[in-house]
Amino acid sequence: MVNNIKGENSVAEKVQAAVRTAAQTTEFREYDMPDIPDEAALLKVEVAGICGTDVKFYSKPPFEGPVIMGHENIGYIAKAGKTFQKRRDLKEGDLVFAEHYVGCMNCEHCHRGDYRLCMETDWRRNPDGLRFGYTLAERAPHLFGGFAEYMYLPWNSVLHKVPDGLSPELAGVVTPMANGIQWALFDCDVGYDSRVLIQGPGQQGLSQLVACKQAGASLIIITGTSKDTARMEVARNLGADCVINVDEEDPLEKINEVTGGEGVDVSLDCTAGAGTIPVLLGIEALKRKGGTLLIQGDVAEFPNFPLGKIANKYITVKAARGHNYESCELALKQLNSDRLNLDQITTHRYALKDTHEAINAVGGSGEVIHVSLMPWS
Ligand SMILES: [Zn+2]
Ligand SMILES: [Zn+2]
Repeated sequence: MVNNIKGENSVAEKVQAAVRTAAQTTEFREYDMPDIPDEAALLKVEVAGICGTDVKFYSKPPFEGPVIMGHENIGYIAKAGKTFQKRRDLKEGDLVFAEHYVGCMNCEHCHRGDYRLCMETDWRRNPDGLRFGYTLAERAPHLFGGFAEYMYLPWNSVLHKVPDGLSPELAGVVTPMANGIQWALFDCDVGYDSRVLIQGPGQQGLSQLVACKQAGASLIIITGTSKDTARMEVARNLGADCVINVDEEDPLEKINEVTGGEGVDVSLDCTAGAGTIPVLLGIEALKRKGGTLLIQGDVAEFPNFPLGKIANKYITVKAARGHNYESCELALKQLNSDRLNLDQITTHRYALKDTHEAINAVGGSGEVIHVSLMPWS
């Protein structure tokens, strides 16, 4: 087995992968190194970032069957067919970020760079859909997730070259950072002089903070709980204007105080497992008319949903749904800039053998911000 990055003729015969076989269960399996067709490539995984979605689906798999998880993947092109190299302008040894969406490249969404919306990558509605980290490991050539030494890149993978000078580990933050740019800037129009409420100071909330700060927001309020002390400190370092511990003070009272009773322009929900609370707080915290509320899809049912208030306050509701191509490119640039000290987000590293612990670490201690699974470490 070879550990250097550019060993084009020296990749191993077998590939080790961590496979989710049931709730909270990881088994290690060995797969044959796939043949790489002319239009495809092989990725040597350097970093697979782990997020709240992994925590959720590791505890409660959304469907049965073995899956190599890992959907936020950075790696080196280890093998590449001739056509792939020509079409993609990528060669062996290049460091890339592979979006987890594997689009059809033909529908209206793919043509816009919104691979996230393509039916071919929608595992919820299309059982044949392909998405890195969500595809059954039984499907040949099996290597469709980042919790493995190598990943197979079909012709329609969406790849971004990692800029020179950016480390694989920090590049691993690209997914939450792209979501920050997508949700706050593109979807909710945060910009110069915006007042923003970000609920939840995890990697996703902090990435929203970075995007809002860079876009010129004049007031950024971030909420967390008593277990988030370390994350709140990072939020302050990154430029949050007001940090609220909801276990200690009434968030709405504080928001009214710091906005002079005006409320915020935008409320972004980046909490996990908080039920309907962040939605209700967001609605209350928004300005009198015309604010924007970004919601997540975790709450299946919402009894007594205050629809009247949404209408009365003339609120626009936006659903958080991943990132488009452009937000990924901007996120890589942001991570590669020296403007904010973003290394403080990459707090924990784990080896492939510790995949189970790595996933659970994300859902656990408040010290953890971004976890990198590094299969070759
Ligand atoms: Zn994710
Ligand atoms: Zn498509």
